[in-house]
Order: sequence, then C-alpha cells, then structure tokens
Amino acid sequence: MKSKILSLAEDLVKSFTATPSQADSSGTAVAAGRSYRLTAGIKADLERHLERAKHVADPSEITPELLKSLGKMCGESPAELVAGELGSDQIGPRQTWKNQLANQVVQPLFVFYPQSLNDPSDNQSITAILERALSTGSLVKAAGSGHSYSDVATTPDFFINTHGLNRPADPVNPIAGQLKTDELRSTLPLALSPTNWPNYDPEKNRALFETEAGITIRNLNTSLESRNLGLMNMGGYDGQTIIGATSTSTHGSGITLGPFPDMVRSLVLATTGTWDGKTFGGKAPQTVALYRIEPADGITDPKKYSEPVIQLIQDDDCFRAVICSMGCFGVIYSVVLEVMQMY
Ligand SMILES: Cc1cc2nc3c(=O)[nH]c(=O)nc-3n(C[C@H](O)[C@H](O)[C@H](O)COP(=O)(O)OP(=O)(O)OC[C@H]3O[C@@H](n4cnc5c(N)ncnc54)[C@H](O)[C@@H]3O)c2cc1C
Repeated sequence: MKSKILSLAEDLVKSFTATPSQADSSGTAVAAGRSYRLTAGIKADLERHLERAKHVADPSEITPELLKSLGKMCGESPAELVAGELGSDQIGPRQTWKNQLANQVVQPLFVFYPQSLNDPSDNQSITAILERALSTGSLVKAAGSGHSYSDVATTPDFFINTHGLNRPADPVNPIAGQLKTDELRSTLPLALSPTNWPNYDPEKNRALFETEAGITIRNLNTSLESRNLGLMNMGGYDGQTIIGATSTSTHGSGITLGPFPDMVRSLVLATTGTWDGKTFGGKAPQTVALYRIEPADGITDPKKYSEPVIQLIQDDDCFRAVICSMGCFGVIYSVVLEVMQMY
C-alpha cells in the first residue's frame, strides 16, 4: 500500500495551480480535501522526491525528504496529516510556539510533551521522539520556559516542551536512571529526604540533589526547602527551568558565586550517535543513546555504577561542552546539583 505521505505529495503536485498574480509562481494545491499554499520551489522539491521514489526498492525511504520539504511551508502543512504514520496519535495540528517575550514565533512540524525518558508505554518519551526524528531526518530542540530572548530554543522540526519532566529524585518513585548512594564516590549525601546537620553552616553543609530537567527554579526551590536545602546562587527570576537556565549559563550576582553550570555535578543526556571518546557519532548518527555525563573526577564511582542503559562518561571536555550547550547536544533529561543547607 502506498504511504499516506507519498499520496499527499502526489496530490499536491497534481493539483498545483500557479496564481498568475504571484511573480514567484507560487500557487494553491489540494490534498486530503484541503487547500494549501505552495511555493514553486517546494513543488519542484516534491516532484524531485517523487521521481526518486519511482527508482528505489522501498518508496518509503524518501519519507524524510518529503517531510523536510513540506516542513518548509510557511503556513499549515499537510505533513501534520501523517502524524499517525509517524507513530503518535496524540500529536495535533501544527502548533505555534512563542517565547515569553513573543519576539520568537515558530510553527514546528511537531510539538511533543514528553513525561518520561524511555518508558516503553509512553509514545512521546524522549527516546521515542529521538528515534522518530532519526527515521525522518528531522532536527530536534528541547526548550524550557522560553525566557531566552534569542532563537536559541527554536526549531522548524521537532520541538520538545520539557515542562512534563518536572520530578525531583524520589526514594519511592525514582526518576529514570536515578543515582544510588552506594554508586557514589562523592562523600556528599544524596538528598532523597529532609537533611539534618548537627550545626548551622550553609557554607560547609552541602548535599547532592537530583531532579528532572524541566522543573522550574521556583518549584525546585520549594522542593529544596522541604529538604532543608537551598541553591548556592540564582538569577533575578525563577520562572526558568533548571536546564534552560544552565544551558545558557544564567548568572546571579556576587563575584565569588558562579553561574548555574557551576552547581552541576552530573547529568543525563539523550542524544543520537555513539560516544567514541571524543565525539557523539560524527555526521551520520544511527542510534539513540543515553549517557550520564560527569567531569573526570565526577561524583559516581565507575566501578560501582550499574545502570544498564545509561552509559557513564567521565570526561572534562565532554562535560563542559554539554553543560552549557544551548540544546545543541541533545535533550538533557536530568541533573544532579550540589546544593547547600537552607539559609
Ligand atoms: C525576567 C527574566 C529575568 C532573567 N534574569 C536573568 C538573570 O538574572 N541572569 C541571567 O543570566 N539570565 C537571566 N535571564 C535569562 C534566562 O535565565 C535565560 O534565558 C534562560 O535560558 C531561560 O531559561 P528557560 O527555561 O526559559 O529556557 P529556554 O529559553 O526555553 O531555553 C534556553 C536554552 O536551553 C535549552 N534547553 C532547555 N531545556 C533543555 C533540555 N532539557 N535539554 C537540552 N537543552 C535544553 C534550549 O534549547 C535553549 O537553547 C532572565 C530572563 C527573564 C525573562
């Protein structure tokens, strides 16, 4: 059976009617009973892909190219109609995303709302989204609360809203890959429950606090407070997500107090490609892989680390590159922060 995306592309090409008043030869075309505006350039792209489909053994091979071309349409695109084929029945029509200032407005091909890293029952888990992106040749960008003024959190392809990933580590309902006390070489305690110190000394009394990446700093502060803990520093606002703030090196005041990345001791990254000791998979990534990334002298004891699907990398360059990467290394799922006694 011919795939839906091929039929849609054929319908668009066959029904294309140039509008005489348009100097650039753009026009209208009909697919699945709806009319769309199409530039002559995109029509030519579709024709080229359809011609190629005639000469390949499996015409579905060209789906990524077709999706890319349709994704360039500036208004609505019939690509949304193939959402079912891409494996999700929850993805709605193309949605508009604006940053908080509304100076960045995009209509990505799909907007996803993951609630898990790799739960097999969640067809919008981070790994499911990345696998779908690989199979369709799409770009992926995760965003936090959209408080960056630039286009640093935008993409025309697969956009991930991370606010559903907002749980701190928990002893009863652990988050994916949650660190265990007996896997640490750090002497700092993992703050899984309220901490108690014999004396009051926020400078010396430190702990490790793990959380999913999409928690807002406001909610993070509430969780920390319930465990008698606080952040070492903050910016002038608390609506950002912890990883949105970290990824852009958000800073506070105080010349001796570092920016957000200075508090990070470990993180879990979902990305495409395989770590070869220097890079993640080169130019043609094939697989989705999960990594716990730390500095060379990181908090985890590599001999005791036992998580089966999240590979441990302890490498200074890799850690420094990922920690402040503006979404360019993949999707950060969780983070371990060094925090201090509440003050
Ligand atoms: C009112 C206000 C006050 C501010 N005050 C300060 C201040 O005092 N000091 C300061 O330095 N800055 C400040 N900023 C800037 C702000 O802290 C940064 O822009 C921060 O990045 C916003 O975080 P966010 O969660 O909104 O992330 P977004 O703007 O949504 O994203 C920022 C970057 O993080 C990436 N990202 C987000 N989540 C993930 C993830 N899970 N995995 C991978 N990449 C991800 C995105 O791709 C993007 O590149 C302020 C901004 C506002 C609006």
